Amino acid sequence: MNISFDLDRTLIPNEKEFNTEKRSLIAKYFGIEKLRKGSRNLIKDLQNQGYTIHIYTTSFRSKFRIRTTLQYYGIKVNLIVNQTENQKVLRSKNINASKYPPAFNFDIHIDDLIGVGLEGKKHNFKTIIISPNDTNWSETIKKSIKQLSSTNIIRQKENAQ
Ligand SMILES: [Mg+2]
Repeated sequence: MNISFDLDRTLIPNEKEFNTEKRSLIAKYFGIEKLRKGSRNLIKDLQNQGYTIHIYTTSFRSKFRIRTTLQYYGIKVNLIVNQTENQKVLRSKNINASKYPPAFNFDIHIDDLIGVGLEGKKHNFKTIIISPNDTNWSETIKKSIKQLSSTNIIRQKENAQ
């Protein structure tokens, strides 16, 4: 199963919405961004459970910059979709939404924006909306993924009958 994470205010703070992982001064100097505390453990955990993790952001940061920041914290992800690619693909598919995870085969998308959750209801894709204030965010995400995965299995069984 493919899971995508938003960046801004989900994994990377805009200001000081959440605690962040340790970052050295040298890393800061080289443009490594702050990362939400617990990101590494959460992503590793999900990968160990067999989920494939991607980044899906409407930011114009380069994929190289995003990958370098994640690698600094020991995180490897599969695909990175930035706004340049997002706009190109959604335009070509004539989709009128800020994000449309199925266009990239992402099964569940994790984001801070309620608007993305509403788009999910409208366009029929699965989201987990996580507040920047949620100090228990890793657990919230893990529970929601389990729930969404099990409803998926139930639906598949219903369709098979
Ligand atoms: Mg965001």
